[in-house]
Amino acid sequence: MRYGSIINGQERDEDHRDTLDVINPYNQEKVAELALANSTDLEDAVNNSFDTFHSTMKKLPAHQRADILRRAADLLEEKEKDFAETIVKEAGKPIKYSRDEIKRSIQVIRFASELAKNITGEVLPMDAAIGGENRMGLVKRIPLGVIGAITPFNFPLNLSLHKIAPAIAAGNTIVFKPAEKTPVSAYMLVKLFQEAGLPNGVLNLVLGTGEKVGEPLVTHEKVHKISFTGSLPVGRKIRESAGFKKVTLELGSNSPNILFEDANIKSAVTGLVKGAFAFSGQVCISAQRIFVHKNIYEQFLEEFIKLTKALKIGDPKDEETDIGPMINEEAAKRAKLWIDDAVEKGAKIETGGERSGTILTPTIMTNVDRNMKIIAEEVFAPVVSVIPFDCEDEAIEFANDSIYGLQAGVFTRDIDRAMRVADQLEMGGVWINEISTYRQDNHPYGGVKQSGIGKEGIKYAIEDMTEMKFIGIKLNP
Ligand code: NAP
Repeated sequence: MRYGSIINGQERDEDHRDTLDVINPYNQEKVAELALANSTDLEDAVNNSFDTFHSTMKKLPAHQRADILRRAADLLEEKEKDFAETIVKEAGKPIKYSRDEIKRSIQVIRFASELAKNITGEVLPMDAAIGGENRMGLVKRIPLGVIGAITPFNFPLNLSLHKIAPAIAAGNTIVFKPAEKTPVSAYMLVKLFQEAGLPNGVLNLVLGTGEKVGEPLVTHEKVHKISFTGSLPVGRKIRESAGFKKVTLELGSNSPNILFEDANIKSAVTGLVKGAFAFSGQVCISAQRIFVHKNIYEQFLEEFIKLTKALKIGDPKDEETDIGPMINEEAAKRAKLWIDDAVEKGAKIETGGERSGTILTPTIMTNVDRNMKIIAEEVFAPVVSVIPFDCEDEAIEFANDSIYGLQAGVFTRDIDRAMRVADQLEMGGVWINEISTYRQDNHPYGGVKQSGIGKEGIKYAIEDMTEMKFIGIKLNP
């Protein structure tokens, strides 16, 4: 019930520390108590990660890093139930979605294990340059050093592993700062890596708030890269204060989905109900804006409302539950205010829009416009808007009318149109005949515009977590 930071394999949970309670968002029960890290702990964690990088990690061969990762994946498979139940409790995520998260997490570690043995360089044709005869040029990929991993509450395990697993595969050490709202699965993950044989100090955990431990981690001179997933305001702050470090920012969006008149409506509706409301819309690529061709708008809306009303709201630990709580009451109140603001400006609630404590009923809005927060900003709640359009150009213009550009969905049976639209959407990724909310853990993932900088997706994260090093040899003929 009481958890502390883990630095060089030792837990820091002494009685004198400030504490913070982790609360179950559904029933407000106390899940755990955190013994918080202070600035000395943060300093110790970074120094220890820095020393461990030089003393241990640099010497750990790829086959051993791959073995450790493989054992960690196997252990997570064994402990799937414990992890899933923990995420239900600390995040309020319905059990079926929590289980999906663990399954994805296992794959993420396995991808990293496989790739750890395949970090390759190249041999350059040095004689391409005049005077380059009898020279050999090698390019190696080398680890950066200490990675600061800062993660959000919504996929507490999988998004943490999108940083930790490639960092280990590439031979870096990590100082891991999970979200204060969901630290228990993070703690369990660090313990799991210990059990898998990861040397002490390779993965140090600091439990504390963004302000107290996140900020000094970002500015610390011995940290070589910050890999952050979270909101735009925090991402912006990190970008400004990270100095010379490499930075990966995986931020928010207001993802568009476009349905042309030849779309398979039934399958799009089924997908989009999940895409808009899974984990109460607290997903960075949640379907927030759905643009529907005017000829199928009425039919789509009717079916979309019908399936949405059938969603089961309740206790996230029940197998049948589709919609559980939002992360806290403040988040639910904020989303409700945005709905009310849109209604005052002329929007219509087709279904939902009611709040009780942390639960906000799945909400479909129409008659919306670009000046409403539920359209212009990231709503990050079970709120989706359906908007009719006339022609392809208009749909593209609407979809691109955003400060964000993470991932989009396009529904049409016309492959020429699909490719034309995909090319014009200002997004990090576009799915055709699939919802914006679908993500596989092995494709490049990351936004353009203010949705972020850099890419994740194991292979791409490894590229960002390594540096190119050139070694030239002058040969005697
Ligand atoms: P958040 O409030 O930005 O917090 C994310 C992490 O940053 C937490 O660990 C937080 O710590 C820490 N933090 C806060 N202030 C900080 C600072 N000044 N310096 C360093 N770290 C700081 O985000 P959230 O509410 O947990 O997550 C929701 C957001 O994440 C949404 O915007 C969503 O779109 C985005 N997201 C993006 C992706 C993606 O892959 N693009 C995926 C998932 C989520 P504490 O909370 O412990 O204080």
